[in-house]
Amino acid sequence: NTIPDIALNDGNTIPQLGFGVYQIEPKDTVEAVGKALEIGYRHIDTAEMYGNEAEVGEAIRRSGLDRREVFVTSKLNNGFHRPDDARRAFDSTLAALRMDHIDLFLIHWPLPTRYDGDFVSTWRTLEEFRRDGRARSIGVSNFQVAHLERLAAEAEVVPAVNQIEVHPYFGNADVRAYGRAHGIPTEAWSPIAQGKVLDDPTLVDIAEELGRTVAQVVLRWHVQRGDIVFPKSTTPKRIEENFHIFVFDLDDATMERITGLDRGEAGRQGPDPDTFD
Ligand code: NAD
Repeated sequence: NTIPDIALNDGNTIPQLGFGVYQIEPKDTVEAVGKALEIGYRHIDTAEMYGNEAEVGEAIRRSGLDRREVFVTSKLNNGFHRPDDARRAFDSTLAALRMDHIDLFLIHWPLPTRYDGDFVSTWRTLEEFRRDGRARSIGVSNFQVAHLERLAAEAEVVPAVNQIEVHPYFGNADVRAYGRAHGIPTEAWSPIAQGKVLDDPTLVDIAEELGRTVAQVVLRWHVQRGDIVFPKSTTPKRIEENFHIFVFDLDDATMERITGLDRGEAGRQGPDPDTFD
């Protein structure tokens, strides 16, 4: 069960499978991340918004692993898009993690109706963090095609990733296609739709045929499409189960059956990035 590295457009690489910590209480985070690292995860996805950056840093230090062995992502919170606020917020993220650099830092949401629609100056501020080496890679989250096109026209650095909602009920095809065409790998958030796809009859059938769990089948579908995933769980057995997805394959027909479950916009679970502010 070897986790592949995905090449980013800036020369860095990211482990294709990671561990997400959204909605993990700070008091449970050291233990959950510690368990994930013990199992073999080497990529943790957190955010200032999740309130558990300090505990993520603590878990990595306690693991005894070298800092360089663990890929850490965090994200700029929505209240801090103005450049000076973004600089302070990034300092706070590094201070909370107690790290001198982060592997990947993202704009969490584009907020196209706030800040006079200006996410470009925010992005230029992330470019500074990359230039000074404190962010090895920079990227975006929840950016739609129009937002990515605007960055392409007005900024220097192409985002290293775009982290967006993707799961069998919401394929997010146009944003994924833009990323593929422009060298921006997709990170699929809520890869199992926060559990909502787990009792889908088609997926249950496939899982039974293969002798895998539904979560494993769905995570396998994501990685075979080339996307990066970081499922969240605080249950050791599930953290372990979600890790073992590189020991089996889905054939083309099975991949298509899963892709065919897409419900378009109706399948979206989270906010619409075009209106969310
Ligand atoms: P997810 O799709 O990973 O689902 C998590 C839920 O599924 C949890 O309730 C967990 O108990 C359950 N679960 C996990 N593994 C299971 C298993 N094997 N069997 C049964 N149930 C299982 O949802 P998520 O946490 O929303 O998304 C994953 C990560 O994506 C987050 O932790 C976060 O890092 C990131 N994320 C980013 C954004 C963004 O705006 N950028 C938004 C949401 C999530």
